[in-house]
Amino acid sequence: MADLIHVLWGRVLTAGQELPPSRIEIARGRIERLEPASGAPDADISVTDGWIAPGLIDLQVNGAGGVDLTSAADPHAALVQVAHTLGARGVTAFCPTIVSSPLETILERIRAYAAQPISGGATSLGAHVEGPFLDPDHSGVHDKNLVRAATQAEVERWLAAGQPAIVTLAPEQSGALEALAQLTRAGVVVSLGHSGASSQAAQAALAAGASMATHLFNAMPPLHHRAPGLVGALLGSHAVLAIIADGVHLDPLIVDLVVQRAGPGRVALVSDALAAAAAPAGASLLGDQTVISDGRSVRRADGTLAGSALLLDGCMRNVRAWLPRLAPAEVVRMATETPAEVLGSRAKGRVAVGADADLIVLDGAWQVRHTIIGGAVVRSAPVQVRR
Ligand SMILES: [Zn+2]
Repeated sequence: MADLIHVLWGRVLTAGQELPPSRIEIARGRIERLEPASGAPDADISVTDGWIAPGLIDLQVNGAGGVDLTSAADPHAALVQVAHTLGARGVTAFCPTIVSSPLETILERIRAYAAQPISGGATSLGAHVEGPFLDPDHSGVHDKNLVRAATQAEVERWLAAGQPAIVTLAPEQSGALEALAQLTRAGVVVSLGHSGASSQAAQAALAAGASMATHLFNAMPPLHHRAPGLVGALLGSHAVLAIIADGVHLDPLIVDLVVQRAGPGRVALVSDALAAAAAPAGASLLGDQTVISDGRSVRRADGTLAGSALLLDGCMRNVRAWLPRLAPAEVVRMATETPAEVLGSRAKGRVAVGADADLIVLDGAWQVRHTIIGGAVVRSAPVQVRR
């Protein structure tokens, strides 16, 4: 039986702002009261060095702790294992992400990874289906043989299996705009990525309801001053820009430029974590591909960069270090409220009356000291100090 938390006290980071020291009261898994207080003698947790923040929300997690969510033989067991690894590191909700796969695998994983609470671990917010409707020339580490044109028949099969939270597609590919319309009508977030789209094709998809960018700059042509392409269209739009701030996928200066352009309300930090994250260096699987981690970056044998070896807490610490001009609450927003907003959730990503009691305690060095999910303390695994 997990320990339930009734009262916390400390400085609070929420909605891009730092609240004065406050007493937070939790009941039935929700925040019931939140009020300024100079102290709280009845607090289960008092934070004197650091902050109370919303739990971290990661929109793109392929795996962690040695488990790959696309290929694991038992998807439910894989989901539980990854959820526990994430919970120990401050991530309280996530989108289990699958790379381009045969139809039957996608259907099975959409079902298994449907939105659900997981006892002692991070809540699933529903699957992120990353591919297979991608540009074969920007497929990155996805298996080119599995990348295919979108068809309404395939999307119908997906929607009959369940409700994915996010689908990444390349808008210039055959059938993509029809699939986009079908998915957004069903309430699925469509994110643009793994694409060589022109700015015009990208803008058409944004006008048709695409609302997010998948790992902006990675697996798409760079910004060119005479051919702004997908990157230019996304930067110029109102879409939420997901970025991998692991120190490998993007130069910190690019992260700074993106945040300056779009602001913390439109930038979502994602880990794009692989099985190799929170696991020893060496070989692991991503779908049907073998990838090799050196502990910092993860690549296929041919050198193609795969996802990340870092979880979201580490990405957040990177951004904190790279962009000292940002207030702590602005950094936290990009890993909490902004990703929650992509999915239309007001229950998560905020410390507010009525919101879910998904909270973390950060110490002065931005290490996650406690993770609380639905009002219950999640036991922490040993925390890696590596950024
Ligand atoms: Zn990708």
